[in-house]
This record gives sequence, structure tokens and C-alpha cells, in this order.
Amino acid sequence: MGAPGVSGGSVRAYVGLGANLDDPAAHVRRAFEDLGRIAATRCVSRSRLYRNPPMGPADQPDYVNAAAALDTRLPPPELLAALQAIERAHGRTRDGVRWGPRTLDLDLLLYGDLESDDPRLTLPHPGLHRRAFVLYPLLEIAPGLAIPGRGPLAALAAAVPGTGLQALAESP
Ligand code: ATP
Ligand code: CA
Ligand code: CA
Repeated sequence: MGAPGVSGGSVRAYVGLGANLDDPAAHVRRAFEDLGRIAATRCVSRSRLYRNPPMGPADQPDYVNAAAALDTRLPPPELLAALQAIERAHGRTRDGVRWGPRTLDLDLLLYGDLESDDPRLTLPHPGLHRRAFVLYPLLEIAPGLAIPGRGPLAALAAAVPGTGLQALAESP
């Protein structure tokens, strides 16, 4: 494509990770490892983990959120399919409640500078610019990033309060 964000045949993509069930921090940490094993893809950085209080009913478990940067040679639909395969692998654990909260959610936040309004793969991810639990982890790993159609990430984060987001201590 020759678009900015593309170098050496690979594209810089960003993934938002979230979990709120069944030791969510462990799921997110394992998911980082899983991202590094996607074909034709390298995980180049990962944010700290952030605890995010539930925004809905108070009896929901807290979320753990994070972001990762990938260099990938996979086309966007294949990368999304790989992310969904990882979600499914994590979803197989534990009690099998069919419609229960998910153990892992992987959103493709950005794929280079690509913009898409396809409902199967919308880019940038439609929630990115208004979710503190996405903006702050992303800011940690890509402070100079500009979001296509939205402007500088730092300005977007400054407009959304990060209160309630708490970085977790690194595990030994
Ligand atoms: P949200 O997308 O608002 O964070 P969610 O993560 O709970 O909500 P899911 O049930 O995980 O939503 O995904 C629903 C559908 O969203 C998927 O089937 C997928 O095809 C579509 N989708 C569209 N754009 C994206 C994207 N950028 N990343 C991941 N999934 C996407
Ligand atoms: Ca999501
Ligand atoms: Ca999702």
C-alpha cells in the first residue's frame, strides 16, 4: 500500500486486550504471549496492565485492560481471525457458561493508517477515541501516535479522564 505505518513489508498494528473473568490479569499476560505466536507477526511492545472498575452494575468484576503493538505481514481480516482464535482458546477454560462474561477480548484498534467502516472490521476501532481503558494503555506504548480521522492520541487521552484506571504492579 505504501501507506505510512508500513515498513519493510510489515504493518504496525495495535491491539486492545480486556478480561474480567477467571483471573483476568493471567489471561491478559498469556494473551500477550499468544500475540507473539501469531503467524508472520511480532509483538513489539506491550503496555502495563490496568485495572478498570466496572462502568455498569457494581456487581460486575473489574476489568483488566492493556494494549500491544504488533508488526505483522498478515492482511487485516487474517489478523482479526487470529485474534478471534486466541479469544476462543481462552474462552474454553473454566465453567462453560455460554453467555457469561468473556475471559478475553482482543480488539484490533489500528492497522497502520487503514480506515474501514466495514462492521466486520471497523478501523480505527470505533470505541478507541472515547475509552480511557484503551487510550491510556495505548498512550504508554505509542505516545506520538496519531489516530486516523481523530488526531493525536495524546489529545484524545487528555479529553477523557483516566480516573479509576489503575496500573497494576508487575508480577515477579
Ligand atoms: P466493542 O467492539 O464495542 O469493544 P466487543 O468487543 O464486546 O464490543 P465483540 O463481541 O468482541 O464486541 O465483537 C463483535 C464484532 O465486532 C466481531 O464479530 C467483529 O467482527 C467486529 N469488529 C469490527 N471491528 C472490529 C475491530 N476493529 N476489532 C475487533 N472486532 C471488530
Ligand atoms: Ca471490546
Ligand atoms: Ca471485541
